[in-house]
Amino acid sequence: MRAGAQAFASPARADYRAPSMVVTRFAPSPTGLLHVGNVRTALLNWLFARKHGGRFLLRLDDTDTARSTEAFAEAIRADLAWLGMAPDAEVRQSDRLARYEAALERLAAAGHAYRAYETPEELDLRRKVQLARGLPPVYDRAALRLTEEDHARHAAEGRRPHWRFRLSPDLPHAWDDLVRGPSHIDPASLSDPVIRRADGSWLYMLPSVVDDIDMGISHVIRGEDHVTNTGIQLQMFAALGARPPAFGHAALLAGADGALSKRLGSLGVADLRARGIEPLAVRALLARLGTSLPVEPVTSDAPLIERFELAHLGRATARFDEAELAALNAKILHQLPHAAVADRLTLSEAEWLAVRANVATIAEAEAWKAVFAGEVGGAPDPADAAFLERAARILEGLEMGPGTWGELTASLSAETGRRGRALFMPLRLALTGRDHGPDMAVLLPLIGRERALARLRAQAANRSG
Ligand code: GLU
Repeated sequence: MRAGAQAFASPARADYRAPSMVVTRFAPSPTGLLHVGNVRTALLNWLFARKHGGRFLLRLDDTDTARSTEAFAEAIRADLAWLGMAPDAEVRQSDRLARYEAALERLAAAGHAYRAYETPEELDLRRKVQLARGLPPVYDRAALRLTEEDHARHAAEGRRPHWRFRLSPDLPHAWDDLVRGPSHIDPASLSDPVIRRADGSWLYMLPSVVDDIDMGISHVIRGEDHVTNTGIQLQMFAALGARPPAFGHAALLAGADGALSKRLGSLGVADLRARGIEPLAVRALLARLGTSLPVEPVTSDAPLIERFELAHLGRATARFDEAELAALNAKILHQLPHAAVADRLTLSEAEWLAVRANVATIAEAEAWKAVFAGEVGGAPDPADAAFLERAARILEGLEMGPGTWGELTASLSAETGRRGRALFMPLRLALTGRDHGPDMAVLLPLIGRERALARLRAQAANRSG
């Protein structure tokens, strides 16, 4: 390693990476809330780190100080925690500005970065001229011809430069993408990217590379909208004397209708949560969406982690369907043991097991608590009053147990001649206040003898009253 490279290596690096350890990062800008697309990127990085016994970092890309807020940073942390993907460590770019400065100095000294002064209007005009001549609208590098005297004159006039990174056919620009396979960019077809603005603020491109080096990021997994950035960033890694991480670019998500819908971009974690979606359902769907593996109603992360491979991701746009998520959520709930939900509801284990197959959300399950321990509504047909009185009388003579419902309905049927719906529905309505739900043979003992008798009598009395 040359002296320069040594000076560049951050002492923080050792904290983050033992040699050859897998380290991934999720790098949102705290300028908004996470949406489903970001959540998927976070999940892919989280799954990869978990699968390989590595570390998963949260990097807050907050160099845009005007738009970044602590409230959004906090919301991102809270969303990740709720999603069950809390990071192993967090870094913020705003704490690391000196590192970007050092990297730019190094790039400039080696001729990989240069100063330029064109205004957006000038650049726009030049692009128009190029296009009119049938030329690609690539920055013409006029600033490379500026002399030190030119720079001094600009400084004297109070004009500050912005900085561009000089792309080169001699720097690496091809990589073996973990999802897309052999990939490359053509450096000659792109404008040298602006990396620092005249006001000293940083654009995304270079800080991300500096962070990936300093944090020992081994794998960068992100959306395919970053493919061109990867080609550019590969050049930056090389110019900084660093080995680049491996890169994988996932195809983007589309809405159920196949379009890159606005709805998808605005569908936030809070919406999913409000709709009663379990974090596990989010992980189960997004881990498999757009892959060659089926979406499965798993009851833990283990199968998601074990079977996760970036190579399973396809090149086609994956479709995210809220209805599929809701259905998966229900299927997962139907299998979850009480221990997995006990901290979020007041149902006992027996009550949970009785109702879980009939609910699509935890809130729906919790609503059954009133049936077991509270008041029920429901307005049975007044014509059933005598029938319900009879039911109460029969139930009084029975011991409560798993066979009670069978005995009650058999006796009632024998006494009244009722069968089927006419026999069962008035009882279900009176006892639960609902016209559908789990097997009454299971519910009745959970409602209990006293409560069941009171409900039958209250409903019977309704008519007389
Ligand atoms: N802040 C960037 C973004 O959200 C990070 C991209 C990256 O993963 O490097 O698009």
